[in-house]
Amino acid sequence: MSTTEIESASGQAELTKERVLDAIRPVQEPEIGRGLVELNMVPSVEVSGRDVSLTVELLAPVATTPHRAQIEQDLRTALVTLPQVGEVAIRFTSRVRASGAGKSDASPIKGVKNAIAVASGKGGVGKSTVAVNLAVTLARARAAVGLLDADVYGPSAPLMMGQASKPLMRNGKIMPLEAHGVKVMSIGFLLDPEKALIWRGPMVAQLITQFLNDVDWGELDYLVIDLPPGTGDVQLTLVQKIPIAGAVIVTTPQDVALADAVKGLKMFQEVKTPILGIVENMSGFICPCCGTTSDIFGSGGGRRTAEQHDVPLLGEIPIEPAVREGGDTGRPVATAAPESVTAAAFQYVAERVAARLAVEAARKPRKPMIKLMSTR
Ligand code: ADP
Repeated sequence: MSTTEIESASGQAELTKERVLDAIRPVQEPEIGRGLVELNMVPSVEVSGRDVSLTVELLAPVATTPHRAQIEQDLRTALVTLPQVGEVAIRFTSRVRASGAGKSDASPIKGVKNAIAVASGKGGVGKSTVAVNLAVTLARARAAVGLLDADVYGPSAPLMMGQASKPLMRNGKIMPLEAHGVKVMSIGFLLDPEKALIWRGPMVAQLITQFLNDVDWGELDYLVIDLPPGTGDVQLTLVQKIPIAGAVIVTTPQDVALADAVKGLKMFQEVKTPILGIVENMSGFICPCCGTTSDIFGSGGGRRTAEQHDVPLLGEIPIEPAVREGGDTGRPVATAAPESVTAAAFQYVAERVAARLAVEAARKPRKPMIKLMSTR
């Protein structure tokens, strides 16, 4: 007799781990649309008499998973179908998975599960602000996060993260600095930022590749890369050289910025890098005196562009003086004022980015081509 056929004294089939797994098999990860069991998201099932305790391993940091409540409810509903079940305890943990780096031929960065490129069609739209606050928000959700300031023409991580020491070398590797729970590396730590202006394209690509290979990033769930603004040769070379899991395009709402954002979208599409979505920054000004919002640069342009190009809108970040102050004083708003409207907007962006990367990571790998080899 197999274990699933054992009957208890009450005449009901005995509760087993297999029965529990069968009952929850149809429960799906809502974003991915595949079963939790199939995705190996239920690493532990314990049955003690009539009681069941499950561990669910979410694919994004716990605090950034909007579907957690739904998963819990779906599991409980599924388990109710087993008449033998008594108490159900569900514990949530998280483990960020590595996603394939698009179709890039670049070799993966050691220890880095997901490299996220933050790009913009032009400067001054808040690309670095978004990169910094995205990194800090993910770190606050207890993910292991790095920030590579690859904007060699105007490195802003030292100022925005409040960190300007010289990195140390250990075992021939550069050790990134640490700020607000994020490992940070920037050319601004090594050079006078004014010197960076004379850098030519191939030198930039070489430097960034060196930062990816020669910096000891340790184990990272996410490496946020703040790219130089624009869509010229330098940027194109970089996005081909860096194994990027997904790209975030930052824009402001007015038409001139949006036209450049579309160029950014096209650049990533050309090199087959998944586009995680668009962030509309400076989307409405929140008056610090009365709290009312006015649309200085218009609004809704990011949403329209996202819809037209069939990419997600990851969020809309208002213009708030606290964002600029945080940027200038090395205290990003996501950590300096976590209760603010803007921090909540960054939280939403981080949730969407983490969820989209989890979807990318769960994509079934393409079948490898089988090479027939002669045995002679
Ligand atoms: P980029 O990287 O695109 O050149 P930055 O992130 O350096 O842009 O932002 C340019 C300036 O605008 C900085 O002073 C920054 O603090 C400010 N800024 C960016 N986003 C906002 C915002 N949402 N509200 C207020 N100030 C902002």
